Amino acid sequence: MSNIYDVVVIGSGPAGYVCAIRAAQLGQKVAIIELWADDKQKPVFGGTCLNVGCIPSKALLDSSHKFVEAKDHFAVHGINVEVPGIDVAAMMARKTQIVGQLTQGVAGLLKHNGVEVIQGRGMLHANRKVEVTALDGSTQQLEAHNVVLAAGSEPINIPPAPVDNDLIVDSTGALEFSEVPARLGVIGAGVIGLELGSVWGRLGSEVVLLEALDSFLPAMDQQIAKESQKIFKKQKLDIRLGARVTGTEVKDGKVEVTYAQGDETLTEVFDKLIVSVGRRPRTNDLFASDSGVTTDERGFVYVNDYCATEAPGVWAIGDIVRGPMLAHKGSEEGVMVAERIVGKPNQLNYDCVPSIIYTDPEVAAVGKTEQELKSEGVEYKSGTFPFAAIGRALASGNTDGMVKILADKKTDRILGAHCVGPSAADLVQQMVIAMEFGSSAEDIQLMVFGHPTLSEAVHEAALAVDGHAIHMANRKKR
Ligand code: FAD
Ligand code: AMP
Repeated sequence: MSNIYDVVVIGSGPAGYVCAIRAAQLGQKVAIIELWADDKQKPVFGGTCLNVGCIPSKALLDSSHKFVEAKDHFAVHGINVEVPGIDVAAMMARKTQIVGQLTQGVAGLLKHNGVEVIQGRGMLHANRKVEVTALDGSTQQLEAHNVVLAAGSEPINIPPAPVDNDLIVDSTGALEFSEVPARLGVIGAGVIGLELGSVWGRLGSEVVLLEALDSFLPAMDQQIAKESQKIFKKQKLDIRLGARVTGTEVKDGKVEVTYAQGDETLTEVFDKLIVSVGRRPRTNDLFASDSGVTTDERGFVYVNDYCATEAPGVWAIGDIVRGPMLAHKGSEEGVMVAERIVGKPNQLNYDCVPSIIYTDPEVAAVGKTEQELKSEGVEYKSGTFPFAAIGRALASGNTDGMVKILADKKTDRILGAHCVGPSAADLVQQMVIAMEFGSSAEDIQLMVFGHPTLSEAVHEAALAVDGHAIHMANRKKR
């Protein structure tokens, strides 16, 4: 006999566990299925984000940032320290401890909310029947009024650089190096490549990023991308654009990479090579052909604006569906689905999903880029303000970068906000809130910003939209 639930969630990443908790809060009988197990065969919650993604990468970014601060930036403040050393094992142990604390926290939250945990691989069949195959191969059948697919994503492998988890690694392997590689190659100068390249570059690796595309961060506002590229160059991240990797050869404990750039074929030799060329949805073996669920040609589950699949009562959220592969996007889809299941008309505003690159300084964005507005034929106004003119940025010695705000020329409504600079993620979050409330640039202009704060750059950028920033010479006058 099968067990009947209100909601069965497959996958306990930030999309799945948040959905399960919210559904339980709303009084649903919920089960969550997770196949990831630790070496003691206990289920591991939190998915990519907590275990091998957002959290461990930020732990290493923060540790390596402190190292650079001590090594290069304390002296100017009059603080003299001996040349700092790096204990990679201690840094990794700290990262592991943080991951453990958070994943156990998720286990506790699931328990507290009465979510039943089922260990094994879930597979959806017709009429919302789910078969779970446990680690020992035994199976059980579940039945649910609603099934939520949240199986996440995995790194893409490319034939010219097969991951061997020794010299050639993916993002997971790059979080586990036991020593700092002298020369580090990174294939793909996207978000993950830049973050992981930064970690090891700060610790002393000579880092070369090989990027097939001719433009840097093409999805970002290009003015901000160009400014970021300049800053990363100063940090000695060697970013080579138009460089398509065509082959690798492992010899004498090193990896030789061949790449095409223009008409030339070039080679580089590295101690380690990170392959960070993107991620793909994990939809193999997730649903049977009679389940009614369909995917696009890249394997993303087809859903409508509310994350409903084509099969009644079956939903899909997070990295397995369209949109940016971001933890917070998946979590909010999880909340939306849980609430829609009980009839609450929650609707996620996909125009207000922020995206962040956690380099130093951070790069963050929400809404439209200038190039998007141009291609859509939208008439817009733009205001930028540099951190170099912000007192607090000067006081802390973080003057690289700028804030940029884009507003509709006729209505003044804010359409996009972009930033490279100190605390960019938190500054852009202010604009997420503003945009959710449909703010105009004038609304921001009329608000009082604390002094001295980095937020003043947001205020000044909004003033610059209409040509009356106070602390710089404006090009436009009003
Ligand atoms: P996942 O987190 O991938 O979780 C899916 C879960 O489902 C896994 O636990 C998996 O074991 C389980 N599962 C899969 N199939 C089955 C099945 N059949 N049965 C049972 N269980 C199954 N995003 C950000 O927003 N900010 C960041 O700073 C950030 N940094 C990142 C850094 C790195 C190095 C990487 C790799 C990713 C990063 N991301 C970041 C992306 C973020 O991790 C993902 O967007 C997020 O984890 C997706 O959540 P999800 O729940 O959809 O899937
Ligand atoms: P992201 O999806 O943000 O992690 O970025 C991955 C990047 O890897 C993209 O910008 C791709 O253009 C790049 N990429 C993919 N294949 C190759 C390749 N063979 N050589 C160099 N860069 C690549």
